[in-house]
Amino acid sequence: MTIVEKPQEQEQKMDDLLIIGAGPTGLFAAFCAGMREMRVRVVERLPEPGGQLAVLYPEKYIYDAPGYAKILARELASQLYQQSHTFGTPVYCFEEQAKTLSWDGDAFALGTDKGTHYARAVLVTAGIGSFVPNKVAVRGAEEGKPGIYYFVKSLDVFVGKRVLVVGGGDSAADWALAIHDIAKSVTVVHRTDRFRAHEASVRRMMETVDVRTFHELKAVHGEARVEGATIFDNRTGTENTIPVDAVVFALGFKADLGDLRQWRMEMDEPNRHIKVDPTMATSRAGVFAAGDITEVAYLQQQELPEDQRQYDGTHLSIPSPKYVERKERWGLIVTGYAQAAVAVNFAKRHITPTASLSPGHSSAMR
Ligand SMILES: Cc1cc2nc3c(=O)[nH]c(=O)nc-3n(C[C@H](O)[C@H](O)[C@H](O)COP(=O)(O)OP(=O)(O)OC[C@H]3O[C@@H](n4cnc5c(N)ncnc54)[C@H](O)[C@@H]3O)c2cc1C
Repeated sequence: MTIVEKPQEQEQKMDDLLIIGAGPTGLFAAFCAGMREMRVRVVERLPEPGGQLAVLYPEKYIYDAPGYAKILARELASQLYQQSHTFGTPVYCFEEQAKTLSWDGDAFALGTDKGTHYARAVLVTAGIGSFVPNKVAVRGAEEGKPGIYYFVKSLDVFVGKRVLVVGGGDSAADWALAIHDIAKSVTVVHRTDRFRAHEASVRRMMETVDVRTFHELKAVHGEARVEGATIFDNRTGTENTIPVDAVVFALGFKADLGDLRQWRMEMDEPNRHIKVDPTMATSRAGVFAAGDITEVAYLQQQELPEDQRQYDGTHLSIPSPKYVERKERWGLIVTGYAQAAVAVNFAKRHITPTASLSPGHSSAMR
C-alpha cells in the first residue's frame, strides 16, 4: 500500500475534524469529511491504515463488504485508504498515539506522544483500542528480530521457508493453512490437544500441516536470522530441535483503550465502549464516536402484544413508560461505515450550524 506523504502547508493549521484511528470506520469517515470539504487529520498508532483488517486478519476474505463479492481484508484497507483521498486531502499521522483531549475555549487540543493537534470537532474511531500481541518469554524470540513475527503483514515473506506457528486459536489455524500453500514446510506447536479455532479449520490443519499437540516452544536459535527452534513435549519433557526459518506467534492480542477512558465521555459498564446517541454524539459536546468503540443508546416506543392493546376508536393506548431504552453494539464493518457517515455530517453541523445535514450525492460532485 502506498502511504501518501503529509502536505507541509497543512501541518500547522487548525483542522475541522480530528479522527482518532484509521480502521475501516476512520478511513471511511475521512472520505465522508472530504465530501463535506472539511480539513481532516487522522491520528493512528499503527504504521499503516486498516485497524483490525491490517493487524488481525489481513489475508482473510471478507464477504460482507458492500460492492465486493469477496475481498482480502488488507486489500479492503488499501481501497478505503485510497478512497479517503477522493475529495479531500486528509493528513494521516501514523505511529502516533492519541493520549489527552482538552478544550482550550476555542478548539479541542489533542495531545499525542508526538505533539498537539487542534480541531473544532473530534471523531473517535479507535475500535477495540491499541493492539498489543500476547507474548511468551522464549530465548531468541525477541520482537523485531528477523524471522520472528508477532504481526503478519504479508504472506510473501514465507515463500519457500520452513515456518513454525505457535498457538491453538483461530489465527494459528488460519496462518498455518495460509502459509502452508506457499511455504516449504509448516509445523504447529500447541500446548494442549484442544483448539480454540473453527472446527473445519482445525480438521484441515490436522490433515495438511505437521501439528504437534502437547508441545511448547523452548528456544529459538540463530543470531542475525532464525535457524532453528527447540520444542518440548510438556507431558514427558522430551526436547526436539527442528530447523526453521521463521516463527509466527499466534497467541492473540490484548486490545486496550488506554488513555481514551479519561476523556470525560460516558462509557458503558466495563468501560470498553463509548456511549453515543443516534447522531453518534458522545456525552461531550463536539466529540463524536463511530464503529466498534461505540454503544448506541436510543429510546424505542414500547410495543404491546395484540391482546393487551386498547383502542378507543381513535387512539391506541400505550403502557407507561411509553419508551424503553435500547443499547446496541454491532462490531461490523458495514455498520461502522454508516455510523461514520452519520457522525461526520453531524460534526459538520456542529461546526457550521447552518450547514445541511445531508452531504448530497457523490455522483453529482464530479
Ligand atoms: C478475525 C476477525 C474477522 C472479522 N471479520 C469480519 C467480517 O467478515 N465482516 C465484518 O463486517 N467484520 C468483521 N470483523 C470485525 C471488523 O474487523 C470490525 O468491526 C472493524 O475492524 C471495526 O472497525 P473500526 O475502524 O471501528 O475499529 P478498528 O478496526 O479496531 O480500528 C481502530 C484503529 O484505531 C487505532 N487506535 C486505537 N486507539 C488509538 C489511539 N489512542 N491513538 C491512535 N490510534 C488508535 C487502532 O490502532 C486501530 O487501527 C472481523 C474481526 C476479526 C477480529
